[in-house]
Amino acid sequence: MREFEFTKAPINWIPATILVATPIAAAIITPWYLFTHDVSAPVWGVFGAFMVWTGISITAGYHRLLSHRAYKAHPIVKNFLLLGSTFAVQGSAFDWVSGHRTHHRHVDDRLEDPYSAKRGFFFSHMGWMLRNYPSGKFDYKISLT
Ligand SMILES: [Zn+2]
Repeated sequence: MREFEFTKAPINWIPATILVATPIAAAIITPWYLFTHDVSAPVWGVFGAFMVWTGISITAGYHRLLSHRAYKAHPIVKNFLLLGSTFAVQGSAFDWVSGHRTHHRHVDDRLEDPYSAKRGFFFSHMGWMLRNYPSGKFDYKISLT
């Protein structure tokens, strides 16, 4: 029965549209823009800084600081990481922490892990966002394991 719920999970239209359209648009628009415009060094610098900031914010912020409580941080650092995580467009801290703690609690369980690698590489990285799977329901009361 639970496996049936996975195969018949309704499409999550807004994230699915964004996740499909964005890489297609980027693959077309980015080369065109770079070919037809001069991009100055400061713009590349800001791009690089945002890549580093958002990447560190997800890793050190949403993941290690909030999901695992691996360390304590000064409120300025915490807010810096939360802002960077917001720019990373990976959803709210509440949703991210809930999903990640559920993932660790049921790691690689086909039905309980929201990002189960047992469902394949694509599912564990992107597929889980395309449909409203039963394992994707958020539990904001889930604690550290
Ligand atoms: Zn983790």
